[in-house]
Amino acid sequence: MPNSWQNDRDLLPSRETLITMLRVLPGAFFFIDDTETIMYANASAQAITGATLEELRGTPFWRGAPQLVSSELYHAMLQARQIQASTEVEYCSPVTRTWLHVYLSPTVGGLTLQFHEVRAPAQRKREDEIRTLVDAIPQLVWIAGPDGYITYNNQRLIDYLAMTLEQVEGDGWMVRVHPDDHQRVRQAWQTAIQTGTPYEVEHRLQDGTSEAYHWFLVRGVPQRNAQGMILHWVGTCTNIDEQKRTEQQFKESQESFRLLAETVPQLVWTMWSDGRLDYTNQRYRDVTQANLNLEGDDLWRQFVHPEDIERTLMLRHQVLKNGNIYENEYRLRDGRTGEYRWYLARALPVRDEAGQIVKWFGTGTDIDDQKRIEEALRQSQEQANILMNSSIIGINIIEGEQIVEANDTFLRMTGYTREDLRAGNINWMRITPPEYRALTQQVHQQLTVQQYITPYEKEYVCKDGSRLPVLVGAVVLQHFPYQSIAFVLDNSARKELEQRKDAFISMASHELKTPLTALKMQAQLARKRLERQSPHEAATALSRVEGSIQQLERLIGELLDVSKIQAGRLEYLQEIVDLDTLLHEVTDTMQQISTTHTIVVRGATLCSLEGDKDRLGQVFINLISNAIKYSPGAETVEIDLSASPEAATIRVRDHGQGIPQEQRDKIFERFYRVSGPNQKAIPGLGMGLYIVAEIVRHHGGTITVESEVGKGSTFSVTLPLKRSLKPESTSVPETLG
Ligand code: ADP
Repeated sequence: MPNSWQNDRDLLPSRETLITMLRVLPGAFFFIDDTETIMYANASAQAITGATLEELRGTPFWRGAPQLVSSELYHAMLQARQIQASTEVEYCSPVTRTWLHVYLSPTVGGLTLQFHEVRAPAQRKREDEIRTLVDAIPQLVWIAGPDGYITYNNQRLIDYLAMTLEQVEGDGWMVRVHPDDHQRVRQAWQTAIQTGTPYEVEHRLQDGTSEAYHWFLVRGVPQRNAQGMILHWVGTCTNIDEQKRTEQQFKESQESFRLLAETVPQLVWTMWSDGRLDYTNQRYRDVTQANLNLEGDDLWRQFVHPEDIERTLMLRHQVLKNGNIYENEYRLRDGRTGEYRWYLARALPVRDEAGQIVKWFGTGTDIDDQKRIEEALRQSQEQANILMNSSIIGINIIEGEQIVEANDTFLRMTGYTREDLRAGNINWMRITPPEYRALTQQVHQQLTVQQYITPYEKEYVCKDGSRLPVLVGAVVLQHFPYQSIAFVLDNSARKELEQRKDAFISMASHELKTPLTALKMQAQLARKRLERQSPHEAATALSRVEGSIQQLERLIGELLDVSKIQAGRLEYLQEIVDLDTLLHEVTDTMQQISTTHTIVVRGATLCSLEGDKDRLGQVFINLISNAIKYSPGAETVEIDLSASPEAATIRVRDHGQGIPQEQRDKIFERFYRVSGPNQKAIPGLGMGLYIVAEIVRHHGGTITVESEVGKGSTFSVTLPLKRSLKPESTSVPETLG
């Protein structure tokens, strides 16, 4: 131990060294003895008191250094002496008004006083508060000298870097800068210092504890004095890791969006909130081939169909204003082919945190095929509706034995109501007459097997019990539940015509057979007379032969006419016809034939018209012969002739059996004969009035009938005087009166 003590003593500075040290101490230093007389004062002390060491030495402290005297100091001196331990005191010099901090240390034979000028406690307090604040703020704060040398870091920065103050000072902090950012940071810092412009750099700074790097935005602002000289730099480091990550994520999502946008089969675009186009995918550009630099509405006018553009622009302006989802269908011109195709455009707004629209993301999907299918579907639906609503075809849907749906035509045909249908009262087996049930069952089995049935004829029993001949066809509509749809055509007209034809054939064979029998008989008679050399009787027989031949000729002529009308080949001459002359010729001839009736002609038309004389003659012959034929008990047939400047009217009146009201319209139809007891006895084939109506129609005229059963009928033919002949037609006249 003594050795080490010895060694320590050797190491102690020499007296001179100590004196020098005291002399150059930055604060004022005094050594006073127990009587408070100054024994030593260093250079600073001399400077403060304005006296030399010689002048001070031996002088009482209170006199030698009045600038430093205060009651606080006095008390501190007493205390130091009393407790024989170092103490310190701080006070404001009443003379210089500067704050002083004094260390008082009792020593052998006296007391040392060491003065430091300090800032006022209030200022220091504020500074402390600021420092606490600065340390407390989540920001990392630093201060550097004008040369860039770091002089201060707040606690947070120190904590983050996990370095001591000394380690950070100067450019010690650089070790925590990410190596990749090193050069950039150094360069920027140097530039800032050299030019005195604010420093702002984003770089990675290592967390000294976790050793992880985080992104920071480092800012430094120069603080200048009144002369503009930089006093120091005050800076902050803000953690922007989150922001950077978001940025990165955004960049990545942006990239994936692009990738997605380029792969999808749609047209993709993004648009700024004001409607300017921002991005379009390749397909968009390929399809539109448009100049996307055009501004405003002109851009869209390039490729949106003229019929859709105004609606589209209006909608666009609307959604840009109200921020609703944009959805629109329009035709877009494919710039490559010039063809328009239907697109469904949809766009959604993307908003920022404040709810402001930042961008619109939109797509355009080609829906042309879909549209076409829709249109085809709509059309077929329409057609189906037309069919369903048609007044000709009855339609019903069958499920089991029940008719579950039917159109109005079907209901009208069968006399059932919608209520019956709803109530499930229409059962197709029940409305089928017993003699058709087996056939119907069979047909429905065929439907199950081949999914459709070829149209077949049957009858329905209507609600009122009457029978309706129908033609029915059906197809399977769906399997679950099993439904089939059937069409029903009213077959009564056809059935009636068939019946009429049957009647006609039996009547025709009878009508043809009668004159033939007569012919045969008269021919035999004539032969026998000739054999017996009786020429006069033979001649009478032969003249009767002529009558039968004429009858046959007329019958065959009418048959031919009917078939020509049917085939549209009835021929007409075009000549000037003097009506009065024609009518007198006809009535004269008819009068010669008729032995039972007197034909009375009254009035005159006094006009002629353009037409076919023989055919018009045929009209009147027919009407007059009918009048005679259907008024067996009467004596006269009257013919009234009259005319107006436009038309001539010929009326043929008889006093015969008349025609029942409900059959009047039908007598002009082919093969139609009025049914009734009187009718049977009168021969006829139902062709005459059919031919008459056709000829009148061809001449632009009309034929009507007025009749009273048991009293007689009047047929009126009106023929226009000046007219151009209509082309020949096969159809029955539309207006028969
Ligand atoms: P038909 O060869 O049977 O006489 P039409 O075509 O001339 O054929 O006449 C059709 C039907 O019209 C006749 O069967 C008859 O029932 C009715 N009819 C025609 N003219 C008269 C008439 N003057 N009086 C009563 N019935 C008539």
